[in-house]
Amino acid sequence: VDNVRHVVCPYCGCLCDDILIELTDGKISGVENACTLGAHKFLDDAGNRLKGPIMRKGDQWIDVSYEEAIDYAVQILSEADRPLLYGWSGCVTETQAIGAHLAELIGGVVDSTTSVCHGPSILAIQEVGHPGCTLGQVKNRADTIIYWGSNPIEAHPRHLSRYTNYADAYFFHNAFRERKVIVVDVRKTATAEIATEYVQLEQGGDYHVLSALRTIIRGRADIIPDMVAGVPKSQLIRVADICKQAKFGALFFGVGVTMTGGKYKNIRNAIEFVDELNRHTKWTISPMRGHSNVYGSNEVFTWISGYPFAVDYSRGIAFYNPGETTAVDILARGEADAALIMASDPGAHFPRVCSEHLAKIPTILFDPYPSATTHLCTLQIPSAVNGIDAEGTAYRMDGIPIRTRKFLDNGYPTDTSLLEQIYNRIKELKGNA
Ligand code: SF4
Repeated sequence: VDNVRHVVCPYCGCLCDDILIELTDGKISGVENACTLGAHKFLDDAGNRLKGPIMRKGDQWIDVSYEEAIDYAVQILSEADRPLLYGWSGCVTETQAIGAHLAELIGGVVDSTTSVCHGPSILAIQEVGHPGCTLGQVKNRADTIIYWGSNPIEAHPRHLSRYTNYADAYFFHNAFRERKVIVVDVRKTATAEIATEYVQLEQGGDYHVLSALRTIIRGRADIIPDMVAGVPKSQLIRVADICKQAKFGALFFGVGVTMTGGKYKNIRNAIEFVDELNRHTKWTISPMRGHSNVYGSNEVFTWISGYPFAVDYSRGIAFYNPGETTAVDILARGEADAALIMASDPGAHFPRVCSEHLAKIPTILFDPYPSATTHLCTLQIPSAVNGIDAEGTAYRMDGIPIRTRKFLDNGYPTDTSLLEQIYNRIKELKGNA
């Protein structure tokens, strides 16, 4: 048995970098330090991957070579008038960069899963800024934590043990007793069960509750009604007091806030709530980014185009208008005439009208595993898995770049090398045209 230390878990935005993998005869036989989600990512990997590319012929799947798969992708993408290049959150930044350049080359739209998770957070940050910090700061300094519209015990299981509730650190020797955790959610989640204070609000009531808390912190509790979106005034006053008493507070928000009524205005209000608290003490606010390197896609697309997601190159220059150039909108309007889906599963998450359109057009899926999108695509290309048999740079949810590790070689090409070949071939074609 060989032990590989300091492996990075590629599953969620925590990107835990302390995983220990046991290898027996070149196969993963054990995983230490990971949560259940991360452990299954490693342990279930081997048996589930496609052996090679598959292409739809009538109602049959046929095996094709990587060369044939690349030929098909080059033909489809170079001939498309409005290609959509979507996904990217499971890819390393090196692949994401090629994707942005490919979109520019073919006049396509490049969008990441951000547009269906924390896109509204970015819009709010563009309006009013981002008083954020690293998870290291939170671990070492934050005595009060708010989880708003997020349930890390089920979605980011080690967030609490590495950075907040259970994380002993420089100023915290008995973190569980010394830190206060406030959970704001519409239902009593597993995280709410362990909270110091659980605030249960009505569905869609986030904006009202944030406004009420801001008003109380401003000293105008007298104008707050007895109930705000299902929350009693007495509890709001108590929560505002806990927040003001904090020496260092950290507010984490999830898609429960970004994807409910009000969308980016909720986040703007949350940032302004944190600004209000910063008149009294020190507070920061951060999104709970979901997929492993979804944050990286925003960084990379911004370096290259100036915009973080939903970048439309059809005019020859980068254009950005969420609600118009976002993947769901382009598919729902039936505009895309070809799609490249990178390491994501819109078939499982997009509205039905989008899935139906994906099934009508040539759709090329890069994914090592069969998924709901397999049933919609014309070609699926499996590649090496980032963090297992491929390596590269990924951004943690707090914007810290981390180098993932390759510790196996299963003989699969990386998506970086495959996409680079597609890019070079199309560039050559366009150069000769
Ligand atoms: Fe992996 Fe996320 Fe679990 Fe850490 S918390 S081990 S990154 S799934």
